[in-house]
Amino acid sequence: MFTRGLVFLAFLVLGGFVGWLLAAWPGAVVGVVLAALLAFYLDTLRLVRLQNWLMRLQSIEQDDPARIQVLPEAPAGGLLGEIADRMHRLLRWRIQAQRESKLQLQEMLAAIQASPNGVILLDAQGRIEWCNQTAAGHLGLDAARDVRQHVAHLIRDPLFNAYVAAADFSAPVSIAGRQNTPSRPVRLSLQVHPYGEGQRLLLSRDVTLIEQAEAMRRDFVANVSHELRTPLTVLSGFVETLQTLELPPQDVRRYLDLMAAQSNRMQTLVSDLLTLSRLEGSPPPTLNDKVGVDALLSQCEIDARALSSLLGRSEQTIEFVQDAPADLCGVATELQSALSNLVSNAIRYTPAQGRVSVSWKLLADGSGEFSVQDNGPGIAAEHLPRLTERFYRVDRSRSRDSGGTGLGLAIVKHVVQRHGAVLHIESEPGRGSHFSIVFPASRVHRADTPAELKAA
Ligand code: ADP
Repeated sequence: MFTRGLVFLAFLVLGGFVGWLLAAWPGAVVGVVLAALLAFYLDTLRLVRLQNWLMRLQSIEQDDPARIQVLPEAPAGGLLGEIADRMHRLLRWRIQAQRESKLQLQEMLAAIQASPNGVILLDAQGRIEWCNQTAAGHLGLDAARDVRQHVAHLIRDPLFNAYVAAADFSAPVSIAGRQNTPSRPVRLSLQVHPYGEGQRLLLSRDVTLIEQAEAMRRDFVANVSHELRTPLTVLSGFVETLQTLELPPQDVRRYLDLMAAQSNRMQTLVSDLLTLSRLEGSPPPTLNDKVGVDALLSQCEIDARALSSLLGRSEQTIEFVQDAPADLCGVATELQSALSNLVSNAIRYTPAQGRVSVSWKLLADGSGEFSVQDNGPGIAAEHLPRLTERFYRVDRSRSRDSGGTGLGLAIVKHVVQRHGAVLHIESEPGRGSHFSIVFPASRVHRADTPAELKAA
């Protein structure tokens, strides 16, 4: 400012001096006035250039902020030039900061887009400001079209509307998802989280599997309790009778036998439950452990004949056929349990004059099939998809009478899955059932294959 004052003064002195040289004192006065006018004119010219430059900057910033980095050059020279230069730098800095925060916002939105949970930003009036694709999919929204729409108009679920009306967002609300159908239920958990100045974050989560698992857990506990309560009630009844009544020895003997049968039933149930929990908790079977199919079949045959005579069905025709010796890779106890369960079901459900055929054969693609065929009562088609569910029984009393726990096929399914095998069930009421397990070639080794071929 001081320099500028000096320059202006020098300008006036120069004007006065030139005027004095030309026309003495009157010339000096005219020279000073003309110099002041010239200085004013030059400053006005610079101001106009600065104004034009600012207007160009403004239009460029509105049209294409990126170009501000290179265009236009600030008017150079003098104090106004310096002001223009500082403004230019300030503007560039502001645009750079804007660009960085825009980039950060885009990255944040991309991260929220990738979230497995739905995210909806609501303004203070409950209108949608932004939502990610997951939320749009969960709730049937259009991320672009539904912006500024009131969320309660789009999520038309009475439970959700009551939740929003009650304004108690301490816990989530569970509603049916947009794609919910009776055959494929979809459950969503929605929770509102207030933030900022009245804005709200609405999170949606697909809880179908969690709710299904929770329902299964509840059913399972109820089923186990029920299964244990029945023999326990019978047992405590007999104990009470024996404690209170003086019974003849043959009655005591009969009661003790019945009590032993009930406690056996409980033992079998607990043992099946433990087997299931071991199957769920242990690591997948490796390919290193091997067991001979003939050993598995021999044990099955011993168990089958013992069970058949225990159930008083010694006339049952039971046949075991093995087409080629082979080894199976897997856990011997698990494999034995799966095969024995299928064989014992066939024995238990097939009447005394019936026939049970058990076979092992190697298939052309190197896989191996274990199959159990019976000519028992068969199973109606509608039951087939549910047979491997825990405690699912077609004929409850027939299962219990023959010592069934309702867990046999659930155990088979687990063992089959863990060994990468496939369980096939074919059955027709009145004609019998055919259960088979196909083990993949990777788990089947022909026992007569030379060692070097096996290695290859
Ligand atoms: P359970 O201990 O009751 O036999 P499973 O899980 O082994 O339980 O079998 C489930 C149900 O499938 C049985 O209750 C029975 O109704 C039916 N089932 C299984 N195997 C046979 C079969 N070979 N013939 C007829 N019904 C069968």
